[in-house]
Amino acid sequence: MRGHSWRSAEFPAFVGLINHPEQGYVLFDTGYAKRFSEETSRFPEIFYRWLTPMHLCQKENLIEQLKALNVTPQEIRYIFISHFHADHISGLLDFPQAEFICSQKAFNNFSKLGRFKGLMKGYLPKLLPTDFETRCQFIEETKIVPLEQHYYPFLQAYDIFSDGSLKAISLPGHAAGQYGLLIEQTTTPTFLIGDATWTRDAFIKNCKPNVLTHLIMDSGKQYLTTLDKLSELYRNNKNIQIIPSHCLKSFLVFNNENSV
Ligand SMILES: [Zn+2]
Ligand SMILES: [Zn+2]
Repeated sequence: MRGHSWRSAEFPAFVGLINHPEQGYVLFDTGYAKRFSEETSRFPEIFYRWLTPMHLCQKENLIEQLKALNVTPQEIRYIFISHFHADHISGLLDFPQAEFICSQKAFNNFSKLGRFKGLMKGYLPKLLPTDFETRCQFIEETKIVPLEQHYYPFLQAYDIFSDGSLKAISLPGHAAGQYGLLIEQTTTPTFLIGDATWTRDAFIKNCKPNVLTHLIMDSGKQYLTTLDKLSELYRNNKNIQIIPSHCLKSFLVFNNENSV
């Protein structure tokens, strides 16, 4: 955060599990997996691990967490990929039957960069299943729908299953082709925003990130535009839960409001 002191911070890496009445289970990202340690054990990838050390105990492993909910990996029908940073896709290989939903722009950006340039952008190509392209559908190929007035300044979205249940909204800046997912058919509409901001304080107080973070961003300018839009959405619509992937406070608020 701009204006804050320098210190290391703890960042949980959350994923979303959506139970769609017709389509079955859909994951929003996969978070980390042990594979991240294996893929970052050598030079130059080891820099990734030094910069963002991962701690993942057995029960935090996504497969274990799904098991606790009585969901098997085979039951995951789709994985929506917000963007291709390693902390969001490390678990893709654990779901050999799932289809992937991602942005073509994000995938192209991920694929075209070589080992070193890709690493600078937070990409680890070996995390991708070899048959990824045959199992993937691009967000941009789904139908565009207008969003209702109360989602202003966001105006349109891609209707993933053409039933209005899951809407992908472009959130550029942090990573090329990043998309968030709006889930409206819950008591409170939920907007999973990936890394469009790292914390809820960022859009509540419109806190800008430190300029150094621009080094890893796809576009610092677009990041700030997206941040402004999320701040405006938050001001206009207190009924929507906006959840960044690494924000513990958002997770606690969500849990509190959705506990049964
Ligand atoms: Zn990211
Ligand atoms: Zn992330």
